[in-house]
Amino acid sequence: MAQSYPKLVQELKEKLAVSCRVLYHLGLVDYMGHPSVRIPDSDLAVIKPRFSPQIRGMSEMTSKQMIVVNLDGQLVEGDFPPPTETPIHTEIYRARPDVQAVVHTHQTMGTAFGMVDRPLMPLMHDESELVAREIPVYPHGWLISTRQLGEEMVRALGDHRILHLQNHGVVITGSSIEYATIDTIRLERLANMNYITAVLGNPRPMSREDMDRVMEQKQPIAARWAYYTSLVDQDV
Ligand SMILES: [Zn+2]
Repeated sequence: MAQSYPKLVQELKEKLAVSCRVLYHLGLVDYMGHPSVRIPDSDLAVIKPRFSPQIRGMSEMTSKQMIVVNLDGQLVEGDFPPPTETPIHTEIYRARPDVQAVVHTHQTMGTAFGMVDRPLMPLMHDESELVAREIPVYPHGWLISTRQLGEEMVRALGDHRILHLQNHGVVITGSSIEYATIDTIRLERLANMNYITAVLGNPRPMSREDMDRVMEQKQPIAARWAYYTSLVDQDV
């Protein structure tokens, strides 16, 4: 029997809260930033609410605090207001049916590479595929707080998976919240390695052939998700 709607939404809320706690644990978010996940076959998404005196660090997020919004960014379910930058998520869901989850962070290295004329190079065996195509840049530092700005940002994203928001942060899309969260982690690792090797000398990127070979060796991500989940406290 197909999973009941309330059970499905509860599972998505739990995974989203895990995403918040994992990203915090790894130093990629603090109180800012927000992941979301589309509720399949609907015009709704589950998202981490706006920070407030009640909604504090991402380390404290639980499924009970997660909220449901429609693609106009209006609150449909939950006790807390949506983030100011909800249009980052809703406009991507509107324009990209292939995207099931979106993570927005201000993570240090991933964000820094959106501010310089130095595209991320494919330096790491696992992470290089993230930059098999150069990550596009939305060349503004303002908040994506309206539908119009969201549409503009989506045009910059095009059919890519990741977008730099210059002077602001990054947006990572995925086919599930697990993939979007893990790609957020992988992006920071790749950006760190780009930084370190640029300081040390002349980085030697992977060849296209090696990147293709790694893609053939790719493993499912269930084990990685289980590992990251094990790093943080259980939902309460
Ligand atoms: Zn932001």
